[in-house]
Amino acid sequence: MRDYDIIEVDAALDIVLQHALPLTPRSVALSEALDLVLAQDVFAQEDLPPFPCSSKDGFAVIAADTSNPRRLVGEQMAGYIADLHVTPGTCVRITTGAPLPPGADAVIMVEYTQEAQGLITMQGQVRAGADVRPIGQDITRGQRVLEAARNLGPQEVGLLASLGYSTVMAYPRPRVAVLSTGDEIVDLDAQPRPGQIRDSNRYALMAAVRRAGAEPVSLGIGSDRQDELTDKIEEGLTTCDAVITSGGVSMGELDLIKPILEGRGQVHFGRVNLKPGKPLTFATVDNKPVFALPGFPVSSLVSFEVFVRPALRRMSGQTLILRPHVPVTLAESIQGDAWRPEFHRVSLTRENGTYMARSTGMQSSARLLSMVGANGLLVLPTQATPFQAGSTVTAILLEQPETEPYPPHWRQA
Ligand code: AMP
Ligand code: MG
Repeated sequence: MRDYDIIEVDAALDIVLQHALPLTPRSVALSEALDLVLAQDVFAQEDLPPFPCSSKDGFAVIAADTSNPRRLVGEQMAGYIADLHVTPGTCVRITTGAPLPPGADAVIMVEYTQEAQGLITMQGQVRAGADVRPIGQDITRGQRVLEAARNLGPQEVGLLASLGYSTVMAYPRPRVAVLSTGDEIVDLDAQPRPGQIRDSNRYALMAAVRRAGAEPVSLGIGSDRQDELTDKIEEGLTTCDAVITSGGVSMGELDLIKPILEGRGQVHFGRVNLKPGKPLTFATVDNKPVFALPGFPVSSLVSFEVFVRPALRRMSGQTLILRPHVPVTLAESIQGDAWRPEFHRVSLTRENGTYMARSTGMQSSARLLSMVGANGLLVLPTQATPFQAGSTVTAILLEQPETEPYPPHWRQA
């Protein structure tokens, strides 16, 4: 196995994002398009509304006609074309969304009328065009209504439906294979025997993949055997767009993942200067990213957050790649690490307009409880002495959507 230089977090993220390229856009059914990124400009092929229509329930009239009461000559309901003409002295009952009958140029709301014996008495006059939505008022034919790279939310989906798009070109959701490794790891249906522990990483990582907007695919648990791990990784590569493994990347005898990846593709880095997560390994095989995350549960989740999630967003066509990085105030003194930058898990509360950070307690990379309830990751530079209460440090807001492109503004400055 090669010896790997330890590289800095920013350099590692650069490498990851250079290799995690947007997937090829494809045609997606509109009903499956929510939260995908649009890969085309969308132009209206029709006017909206396509015909002049009433925006109220009431009576279609000629605005300049001063006769009162007016004779009711028929009904125009939404969804039909009635053979009716409005002439001076007459009106037509009309419902919201119904086409304006020929002759009429305004609608008076039912609230401003009285009806008796086929005659409609109106309180006051209406101006021409009142409560009428003319052709193309909302959207005119040929208009660009959505630009490529936009996120498809409920309103974009609705807009596309209103213009008749049943499919749309979008970046697909990356499919991501997730593999746990280690002879000691057992699945949830087994009672761990002495020396065994339950697989938590695969469940946590698959949940994190889903939350990143990608589709997780389980590869199960691979035991520490070269052939078995090779087969599992191969299965992930043939069925998915990216592969995530956990465990088997540190310096122990049975840390087989790095040599397997070296034999199959290109390992771009094998150690990163962060805590937790130092053995994080990144490779590409057949142009597909492979993230070999450390085995400790917190290490794997923190390195997912810092490296894998941005990569999955980029593969999804997203242009906002990074979570907000904000200055926060320490509510208590917090010990970092003298040798490696530490991503310290904190709970953040907004107090008097600033975020106050409190540690989630012991930061062992095995202790998932240090992650539970954490809505922030402090980015603590190396420092032997504690960061004092009241001092300001940078935190990543874990529960806020990504707001920063890559490279981030704060790194360009
Ligand atoms: P490794 O990197 O394979 O040496 O694993 C480091 C530590 O993480 C060991 O204590 C493993 O037992 C633990 N670990 C590895 N994989 C998992 C997993 N899937 N779920 C929970 N703990 C794990
Ligand atoms: Mg292991």
